[in-house]
Amino acid sequence: MRFSQLLIPTLKETPAEAEVISHQLLLRAGYIRKLTSGIYSYLPMGLMTLRKIEKIVREEMNRAGAQEVLLPMVQPADLWKESGRLVKYGPELLRFKDRHDRESCLGPTHEEVITDLVRNNVHSYRSLPLNLYQIQTKFRDEIRPRFGLMRGREFIMKDAYSFDATEHGADETYQKMKDAYSRIFDRCGLSFRAVDADTGTIGGSFSHEFMVLADTGEDTIVICKECDYAANMEKAVCVSSEPDSSNELPLAKVETPGKRKVAAVTEFLKISADKLVKTMVYLADGKAVAVLLRGDHEVQPVKLQNFLGVNEVELASDQQVFDATGVPSGYLGPVGMKIPVVADLEVTKMKNFAIGANEKNYHYIDANFDRDFQVEKIADLRMVTSSDQCPKCGGNLDLTRGIEVGHIFKLGTAYSEALNATFLDKDGQEKVFIMGCYGIGVSRVAAAAIEQNHDKDGIIFPMPIAPMQVIVLNLGVNDEKITQASESLYSELEKQGVEVLLDDRDERPGSKFKDADLIGIPLRLTVGKKYVKEGVVEIRQRASGNVTEVQLNKVAATVADMIGNT
Ligand code: ATP
Ligand code: MG
Repeated sequence: MRFSQLLIPTLKETPAEAEVISHQLLLRAGYIRKLTSGIYSYLPMGLMTLRKIEKIVREEMNRAGAQEVLLPMVQPADLWKESGRLVKYGPELLRFKDRHDRESCLGPTHEEVITDLVRNNVHSYRSLPLNLYQIQTKFRDEIRPRFGLMRGREFIMKDAYSFDATEHGADETYQKMKDAYSRIFDRCGLSFRAVDADTGTIGGSFSHEFMVLADTGEDTIVICKECDYAANMEKAVCVSSEPDSSNELPLAKVETPGKRKVAAVTEFLKISADKLVKTMVYLADGKAVAVLLRGDHEVQPVKLQNFLGVNEVELASDQQVFDATGVPSGYLGPVGMKIPVVADLEVTKMKNFAIGANEKNYHYIDANFDRDFQVEKIADLRMVTSSDQCPKCGGNLDLTRGIEVGHIFKLGTAYSEALNATFLDKDGQEKVFIMGCYGIGVSRVAAAAIEQNHDKDGIIFPMPIAPMQVIVLNLGVNDEKITQASESLYSELEKQGVEVLLDDRDERPGSKFKDADLIGIPLRLTVGKKYVKEGVVEIRQRASGNVTEVQLNKVAATVADMIGNT
């Protein structure tokens, strides 16, 4: 392809609206353009990268035994009523009425549609297991579409859904998909981790998120420095300390005038934060509950939500705290607390700690669990920290940032039961399908690849998902010798099956170099003055910056070698 003819509208300036690097670079390199909030057009180079990712995804899905389908984007609201998600999914589901006043929605995901398809067409265990996937545009009316392709309203997803007759079969399918996902992200040339993820209220099953490691990621993940343990914050298990074996001191009430926050109280009492237990009030589906926690720890809201078995938890405001407990916030404590109290496990290991006295301007010191107060329930409710130990091997943990590019989930029978999707089993019994669902954010993968691989000059695409493999810079479009060499190199590489872009524009060398760096094609071949003088072409690797000079007739072989090696 020729640069002069291809639509690559590169920009010199960083567009003000783009906050993250992938968004900035995708716009500057002319890969995408915004139509409206969270909705983008893919330009030729952007689409080439998407197609590369899709090809890898397709090959690995097919290899794992999944079959490709293409399901409608417009879905009848009735199906969503059947599954119970018409209300539950909330405003991310875009709803509208057609001319016959029928309520419809734009598919944010396809569990309902696929379950409907399968219940109408698959009736016997003989057809199982069945795994169907598609690569398609999804629409989610995200509250804050941002970061370009990272969180769009319209985006491209690969979604797969599996149907099994037995639990064991469903577990095997899940493992197959997990392996396929690892191969996909490996083949994309990305550094990633599969992390244990929360299964939410569907429960009883398992789930993994695939995280591309990048400092700019929205998610925090925990990885063990010594073993393969990795989890997201919602799922990361906190190992509690050994119990403190100090002798219990007598409880005493002390005045702490105006000291409400952990830092103020501990400074005033001259203790460290791990010698204080704070009392946080949450509204769990609207009902107040107090959570006890070591002073230097934080509540993990999803752990609390799952533990309490509610749909939503929300930190109470000062007014809500006062209304529920009759105590001004900052002085709350478990002794004589009116609302239910639950404690994080770590609290039960502590001795002689400070707590609020449920009275303005007062705290207790040398409080002890069990002796001075009881709680309704104890559980791991806190956010893991980098000073915690690995729950698997006891090793040191690292908290790092990641971008969720894939999510696999053993669904069980939630959807098949709701939609009454059944088959006849071997024994002649009617049974519901056991399902799994598996998503990859194809367009997000492109953005995540850039977040992970870039420098100040632009994108550094891994070879497998770069729009093209090689760019040839003709630095003398008005010089017959240079042009002839560039053209012959271009056609020779094309003949060899190399994906090559020829920069044949009548532009200064400086701007050709800048654009080549910006768009991130892995290998750059420069045909310029050196060719005229010495007959050599410069080959530069975008990622390492390594440069080699090669005689024109050796270039194609060297390039073939380099492509094979990257
Ligand atoms: P997130 O927590 O980031 O909103 P999700 O849990 O809603 O993601 P899933 O429903 O599991 O995502 O969707 C499968 C995959 O689709 C995700 O792993 C992600 O890669 C991608 N994805 C989800 N929402 C978006 C979006 N708004 N823009 C781009 N990709 C998305
Ligand atoms: Mg989401």
